Amino acid sequence: MPCHEIEFGMFPLEEEEEEGRQLDANGEQSTDPTRFPDGALRLRNPHISEMEQDILYHLALGSGSHDLQEMFSDVRFVCMGGTPKRMEQFAYYIMDEIGYKLPAGTTLLDISFQSYRYSMYKVGPVLCFSHGMGIPSVGILLHEVIKLMYHAKCRDPIFFRLGTCGGIGIEGGNLVISESAVDGLLQPYLELPVLGQMQRRPAVLDRQLAHDLKNLRREDDPFTVTVGKTMCTYDFYEGQGRLDGAFCDYTEEDKLAFLRKIHAENVVNMEMESLCFAALCHHAGVRGAVVCVTLLNRLHGDQVSTPKEVLNKWQEYPQMLVARYIKKALGLPVAVPQRSHPQVVKCPRQAQMVRQQSASFE
Ligand code: URA
Repeated sequence: MPCHEIEFGMFPLEEEEEEGRQLDANGEQSTDPTRFPDGALRLRNPHISEMEQDILYHLALGSGSHDLQEMFSDVRFVCMGGTPKRMEQFAYYIMDEIGYKLPAGTTLLDISFQSYRYSMYKVGPVLCFSHGMGIPSVGILLHEVIKLMYHAKCRDPIFFRLGTCGGIGIEGGNLVISESAVDGLLQPYLELPVLGQMQRRPAVLDRQLAHDLKNLRREDDPFTVTVGKTMCTYDFYEGQGRLDGAFCDYTEEDKLAFLRKIHAENVVNMEMESLCFAALCHHAGVRGAVVCVTLLNRLHGDQVSTPKEVLNKWQEYPQMLVARYIKKALGLPVAVPQRSHPQVVKCPRQAQMVRQQSASFE
């Protein structure tokens, strides 16, 4: 149909969708359109299984070019955050925390380095991604990660977003776990125009997971943990009511009135990815949680002026909580003191001499 003939309108909210239309491995009707009986993900897309190969373009992987099952079937936890550097650092951190040892002579590699888009690190059962900034970026990544889980036949993977946010009534350096996400109009769903119609997907997060994470806070942690609604916006500046963007057509009073209004609706933080993360996880039948550290209290200002070293420390807080969850789920003791990175070099000075000697006998 030519584009101009498309009728514009609204798809129904996806909760109303009829379930149980697909057949399971035994050819029987399944009630869960997102799962095979063994817990592997079933895709809500009939085209993928008919394709000769599926190229996960932004991950630099493909179902024809790579044995995705061999590479990824053991993945149980998918952790994502904004920047490649932060997620590389998380990969090393979780490696220490779960006591995962790399074989001698190997190192962690960004599996997706050839895509120049997202980064990906695998540490045993934990897969770490950078998702970039904003809904379009995290959305594209999630499509490909969900397909990766499907091709690899991963069972019941849990997804975490570890991020940063502006707190509303919460000072910088504290954690917020999203109980659900809303857009800038307080609407609890992701809107995406598809074939000229507005598709709406409910932005639902796993409440049990959120509460289990909250309960992992310890008395001596340097942060508080709040569970509440997250407002996810399409912009950092005007979209979040800041006064310090390139443009601003409202007053400080307007801004504060808005922040107080949404705070009264139990919105406790603002960021730019949770709506899409929640909506796509929910649609895929994946348990998901969003854990963000506040960089500032938006009731007191707009600029992120905390020193870099402090911000770097704060950004470890979501990692600490998620690492505790993963360790507990893996049956590892949560309270074991953090190990240092496995040392293979006993004496750096001697090792240096050995390296120099070897080099001179080329
Ligand atoms: N990320 C956001 O989206 N907003 C903030 O205020 C801080 C981090």
